[in-house]
Amino acid sequence: MDQTADIVIIGSGIGGASLAHSLAGTGRRIVILERGEHLRDAPQARDDRAIFLEGFYRSTEEWLGDDGQAFLPGNYYYVGGNSKFFGAVMYRYRLEDFSPRPHMDGASPGWPITYHELEPWYERAEAIFKVRGDPTQDPTEPPRTGPYR
Ligand SMILES: Cc1cc2nc3c(=O)[nH]c(=O)nc-3n(C[C@H](O)[C@H](O)[C@H](O)COP(=O)(O)OP(=O)(O)OC[C@H]3O[C@@H](n4cnc5c(N)ncnc54)[C@H](O)[C@@H]3O)c2cc1C
Repeated sequence: MDQTADIVIIGSGIGGASLAHSLAGTGRRIVILERGEHLRDAPQARDDRAIFLEGFYRSTEEWLGDDGQAFLPGNYYYVGGNSKFFGAVMYRYRLEDFSPRPHMDGASPGWPITYHELEPWYERAEAIFKVRGDPTQDPTEPPRTGPYR
């Protein structure tokens, strides 16, 4: 409690960890606060049935929806956040995703920024995570300034 930091990042998931990675070379003192424990190796950690069907690692925490109904958010609270369990497929959102559009469960109001504003940051994130692939194969792929690095 007696340590000081220039930057405090709350949560060590993909967002927090990417931020810490990007700021690491700045010389700033960075602290990441994480509510979860390290995920320990155990038979369940290598068993997709335990993870996805039985929800062995899933939090039992309930959130309240707009309608006041409780629901399980499906979050994982561990060092690394949901990246400990995610599918490791890193798509960019499509151009249309940034505009208002209807979805099965309701309408999205759209984003306050455009895909083109975000594009350089996608490129940087893909380099950090070493995303690979052939973007010419998918006709819905949004425009990009260059190939995967
Ligand atoms: C099973 C599964 C599969 C997925 N597959 C994919 C995929 O293939 N491709 C893809 O792009 N996305 C996928 N996702 C979604 C992706 O994992 C999330 O969008 C991404 O991890 C979100 O990153 P985040 O940093 O915003 O949040 P999180 O990864 O949730 O990280 C938040 C962190 O903050 C911590 N935290 C929360 N509250 C506090 C607090 N008060 N104090 C301190 N720490 C706190 C949490 O413990 C957690 O570590 C998947 C998700 C799941 C669950």
